[in-house]
Amino acid sequence: MNKGELLYEGKGKKLFLTDDENVLISEFKDDLTAFNAEKKGNEAGKGALNCKISTQLFNLLEKHGIKTHLIKTLDDTHQLVKKVKIIPIEVVVRNIATGSLSKRLAIADGTVLPFALVEFYYKDDSLGDPIINDEHCLLLNLVKSESDLEELKRLGREINAIMKGFFAERKLKLVDFKVEFGVDHEGAILLSDEISPDSCRFWDADTNEKLDKDRFRQGLGNVKVAYEEVLKRILNH
Ligand code: UDP
Repeated sequence: MNKGELLYEGKGKKLFLTDDENVLISEFKDDLTAFNAEKKGNEAGKGALNCKISTQLFNLLEKHGIKTHLIKTLDDTHQLVKKVKIIPIEVVVRNIATGSLSKRLAIADGTVLPFALVEFYYKDDSLGDPIINDEHCLLLNLVKSESDLEELKRLGREINAIMKGFFAERKLKLVDFKVEFGVDHEGAILLSDEISPDSCRFWDADTNEKLDKDRFRQGLGNVKVAYEEVLKRILNH
């Protein structure tokens, strides 16, 4: 499949057209951003690590019946994916309070939540991705109907249940994560974008050491070492 014209460039990936109008090539970049792109960085090899980690997790989820945009991985940094129209809602699922949840509601950092909390954020950089509720989603026509919102919540919870158990077996706590969904040309809702240490928080089960993008955001160093550790645990279970 030929890599055609650049269709879109985001913070972590580029999307290219292909000969097939329903298929795109996704390229994982080495760039890192934090706090709405105010803090920028670059970590050689990060794109390849995220591509491998995301491929493993999408394959795991597919195995459990979650439909995704992934067709196949082409090389270290490229995936062949189904073209979708991204639903501009970031679906965040949390098992442990930290980050913006702790700040907004004064829940102590590290508090284990009594149930998986699902939140919606409006995917709009110029507004700083604000938190929104179901009615905001309908008001802004971000989805067709209320049942689509229920489906996003159900998928978020199911993805969480599958990944939480998978990472627990690998001595990693899945603290929280963000997923995005898209609608394909047949109207199906597919898990899209990526799932990686850029979009999830992973804490070591024994030490609570952070093994995700917070190492960059909080200037803790060893970003690539942490991402390598996550991939190693995924592969060498
Ligand atoms: N997240 C993301 N992209 C965003 C915002 C959040 O991937 O634009 C992920 C983040 O990595 C974390 C979860 O969503 O796993 C919850 O993030 P939070 O709301 O706590 O915001 P943060 O403290 O990361 O700014």
